[in-house]
Amino acid sequence: MIVILLGAPGVGKGTQAQLAAKTHGWKHLSTGDLLREEVAAETELGLQAQTYMNRGDLVPDEVMVGMVAARIATLPAEDVLLLDGFPRTLVQAQALEEAAPSGSIGLALYFTASDDVLIGRLLGRGRKDDTQEVIQHRLAVYRETTEPLVAFYRDRGFLAEIEADRPVEEIQPDVLAAVQGALSQTKLA
Ligand code: AMP
Repeated sequence: MIVILLGAPGVGKGTQAQLAAKTHGWKHLSTGDLLREEVAAETELGLQAQTYMNRGDLVPDEVMVGMVAARIATLPAEDVLLLDGFPRTLVQAQALEEAAPSGSIGLALYFTASDDVLIGRLLGRGRKDDTQEVIQHRLAVYRETTEPLVAFYRDRGFLAEIEADRPVEEIQPDVLAAVQGALSQTKLA
């Protein structure tokens, strides 16, 4: 089952996914991490992507779809994959539906927090693309391009909301319950 993690930069999707993956043997695929590995290895893809990432812009859809599609297509039915940072555009969401094994998308978890909390967390993280100016731009890109996916998945009946304005250890049980609930639905289907 594929679980899509939706929400603004800094909302804590990655932290929650890492924790849940570790304790439950689930897979965690972060497109941001994959891109940062490409950048560090100075591959051609990494060098291309870096310009977009440093500005807080999205890396083009073709690159991202190519990166994720092959990994998704071969997902064993019994595995749980937490998809972190993808899809970020409607084009990516549609490509994911085509690439994913039929019926495998089980849940979209939508993490919410106020802008103050998001900005505070991003500034505290100290990543290269976490400067005040780039953060503002990333949030604007998120609102305009990625947030419409909330309605897309709500329409499909996949959406569960997680209030992420709370400490990590309070959020985690809600994440686990939502994933386990969706898993038992797919087993009944
Ligand atoms: P993240 O670690 O998810 O915050 O991603 C860091 C940066 O990688 C983003 O600001 C984008 O520039 C790029 N990125 C990651 N995932 C995607 C995606 N699905 N589509 C486009 N760009 C992405």
